[in-house]
Amino acid sequence: MTARNGLRMSTAKAFLKPIRTRKNLNIVTGALAFRIFFEGTRAEGVAYSQVGRQCYASARREVLVCGGAVNSPQLLQLSGIGPAALLREHGIDVVADLPGVGENLQDHYVIGCAYRCTRPVTVNEQSRGLALMREAVKWAVSRRGLLAMSAAHIGAFVKTRPELDSPDVQYHILPASMTQNIAPGKMELDSFPGMTCAPCQLRPQSRGSIHIKSSIPTTPPAIRPNYLTARLDQETVVQSLKIARRLFNAAPLDPWRGAELEPGADVQSDDELLAFARERGNTIYHPVGTCKMGSDPMAVTDAQLRVHGVQNLRVIDASVMPNLVSGNTNAPVIMIAEKAADMIKAAARAA
Ligand SMILES: Cc1cc2nc3c(=O)[nH]c(=O)nc-3n(C[C@H](O)[C@H](O)[C@H](O)COP(=O)(O)OP(=O)(O)OC[C@H]3O[C@@H](n4cnc5c(N)ncnc54)[C@H](O)[C@@H]3O)c2cc1C
Repeated sequence: MTARNGLRMSTAKAFLKPIRTRKNLNIVTGALAFRIFFEGTRAEGVAYSQVGRQCYASARREVLVCGGAVNSPQLLQLSGIGPAALLREHGIDVVADLPGVGENLQDHYVIGCAYRCTRPVTVNEQSRGLALMREAVKWAVSRRGLLAMSAAHIGAFVKTRPELDSPDVQYHILPASMTQNIAPGKMELDSFPGMTCAPCQLRPQSRGSIHIKSSIPTTPPAIRPNYLTARLDQETVVQSLKIARRLFNAAPLDPWRGAELEPGADVQSDDELLAFARERGNTIYHPVGTCKMGSDPMAVTDAQLRVHGVQNLRVIDASVMPNLVSGNTNAPVIMIAEKAADMIKAAARAA
């Protein structure tokens, strides 16, 4: 990194240096916000640590929390906003008893249906050894090839039941497979050609939670996703795997399709498919809903994203979505942020 005076700074120093490109903007990086401070119920500022140093930033107007669906509820709970019993259990003074903070966790849970491919045309074998070097050269020369591709080449939104108004499952179809059971959450491409069709239910009914395990900010919270606890989610996941099989067994794929790798020929009944989904499914990292917007007793923010029961505090991130969107979450979060910026500016102008 080069400082504005042209001097080269060490990476660590650059990392910690406040970024000041405008008089009214001060960005502090490598910092962990660990508590919002209140005067009564009015948010006054934020305490954060930076390499062991404890610092404080005061807020003349508002504190905006944007820590994401896991960390925003954690920070609120650490600061005394959340279910009173949980806060007291950890010796935290209650500023606002909001039972919905950390509840209503929703996520997209994905399960792969994978087949061997009879020809060497998949990412698996092209991302190794000489083939990978060839792809690297192709990228350097033409910006094309394997390194210019997205992970999923085909997407589809499908109804698992014809009577539904809109699709309830999204399919990600990849010219790649990761069927080795290495360790939970750890994936590696297979060494032979393979292909995968991975469905995820778009609007699951299962609900999880984020609860602090301690008043120490560096202790990760307990994340309980509770995937596939709702009956509808169990039925949908089973149907979605059956549809994935149907897709891969379509006649045009006959010359390309090898043996089914997952769920595998011995997994046939609904109960077996569900058990497979429980064992081999994974998050696609779309957690939302843990500081949901609304006006019911479990709502955390109002429609202006202001936290109920306190003043000068907003939450602006995926946690405010009352329900999971029917697709990927990044663009909706950007939309939430843009809308929040407009609301904050409008409120400032009106003040
Ligand atoms: C591996 C992965 C792949 C994904 N792929 C896609 C995709 O292909 N398409 C798509 O649409 N979505 C994708 N998503 C989801 C998308 O990235 C998220 O929905 C989106 O980024 C959520 O935005 P957010 O602002 O709520 O939270 P985040 O983007 O998580 O932002 C929260 C920020 O707050 C910081 N933070 C948290 N706590 C503290 C604290 N106490 N102090 C200081 N800083 C803190 C974090 O470091 C982070 O920078 C993916 C997510 C992951 C993890």
